[in-house]
Amino acid sequence: MAIKLYNTLSRTKDKLQPLDAKNVRMYVCGPTVYDFAHIGNARPVVVFDILARLLRHAYGADHVTYVRNITDVDDKIINRANETGEEISAITAKTEKAFHDDMAALGAAPPDIEPRATEHIPEMIALIKTLIAKGHAYEAEGHVLFSVSSFADYVKLSGRNRDEMIAGSRVEVAPYKKDPADFVLWKPSSEDQPGWESPWGANNGRGRPGWHLECSAMSEKHLGQTFDIHGGGQDLIFPHHENEIAQSCCAHETKIMANIWMHNGYLMSEGEKMSKSLGNFYTVHDLLKEFPGEAIRLVLLKTHYRQPLDFRKDAIRDAKKELDEFYLALRNADSDEVLPKVMPDEILNALGDDLNTPKALSVLFDLKTKLNTADAESKSLLRAQLLASAKLLGLLQADPQTWLRGVSADGLSDDEIEQKINARIEARANRDFATSDAIRDELLENGIILEDGAGGTSWRRA
Ligand SMILES: [Zn+2]
Repeated sequence: MAIKLYNTLSRTKDKLQPLDAKNVRMYVCGPTVYDFAHIGNARPVVVFDILARLLRHAYGADHVTYVRNITDVDDKIINRANETGEEISAITAKTEKAFHDDMAALGAAPPDIEPRATEHIPEMIALIKTLIAKGHAYEAEGHVLFSVSSFADYVKLSGRNRDEMIAGSRVEVAPYKKDPADFVLWKPSSEDQPGWESPWGANNGRGRPGWHLECSAMSEKHLGQTFDIHGGGQDLIFPHHENEIAQSCCAHETKIMANIWMHNGYLMSEGEKMSKSLGNFYTVHDLLKEFPGEAIRLVLLKTHYRQPLDFRKDAIRDAKKELDEFYLALRNADSDEVLPKVMPDEILNALGDDLNTPKALSVLFDLKTKLNTADAESKSLLRAQLLASAKLLGLLQADPQTWLRGVSADGLSDDEIEQKINARIEARANRDFATSDAIRDELLENGIILEDGAGGTSWRRA
């Protein structure tokens, strides 16, 4: 199958032509672990999970290497430790665990390799030494800086001009820089900051890496000097990815770092920029207390990954109802028949066209409609197609019975339950045990347990 992906570097949809079809290699920038992931952090995780699933389908499950890093040394983490008095290692361990749990609840499979920055300090130091030796970096006051003027292709990815580059708030102006646009590869650490010995600066060069460096070092170690796809959020294009390219291409003297650079669009929340003061700042952890992860995932997939996404709680409620209908259709078409493995071409074509998830979802909805109206003969094929398609999207992964149990219990009000119990009492009085048993079973299926006692019938939710 052909897979076309929008490439930020070429600004066109490019056909994916793996360097090695036996090992398709993708690197995605992962979380900085200092706080719970918010829904904006979850977007790239879900987007690149879909891509990983598609690649595994197209090239074989064992022919894809998906690497997503954990940034566990960063000033945000140091600041958090200073605020709370917690140990840095405790903050990063706790946050990493929560991130894994939350992303699993969203149906995102873990990457094949999840390297931590702090476990790759020697590789980063080696990379800096190479850059200095090749004239792309210099030491100044215990810092090592990358000299952007030494790399002709700088800003090729972002298309920024020099003024925009320096005006960018994340470019720090400092007296020791030869050029304000130069960025930090290594910086000194004080005694109360995490640090490692290095060849640069006082105190045995005790310092820590700049953020951009880790992805160059870890992608090289786990994927090689050049690989197929590099991904992340749109906010990473500049300076993070621009700097990764500069470091890697200069150190390795390669033309490219990755062939295709993919970026997901921004996420708004309830129509505004997400902010704690507006009450629209949703962590995945909190959303999962209210909604099933699959419903949140469905909302994320309804917008194409390059478009801005306006995330709304109402949309999760709608998505939940839609999933109820899918599970109902599956339960009604349940069979013991061994299902053939059939992936509809429409799903592959939609996802192969720059991950068009809205189109893929419309195929899923069509399959559900067909399944609901199909005759017995075509049901099992349609069911198999629906399940195969949904799996590629990471949806409908629950057992229909389990999913629907919770659903209907929520759906039945106390009044409706009392009404049914009264109907059952009446049926029993009429010695119509078939009806009375049917009502009991129906309630049980909806998660309502009846208890007949001397004082009458009582009920509780399972
Ligand atoms: Zn990165």
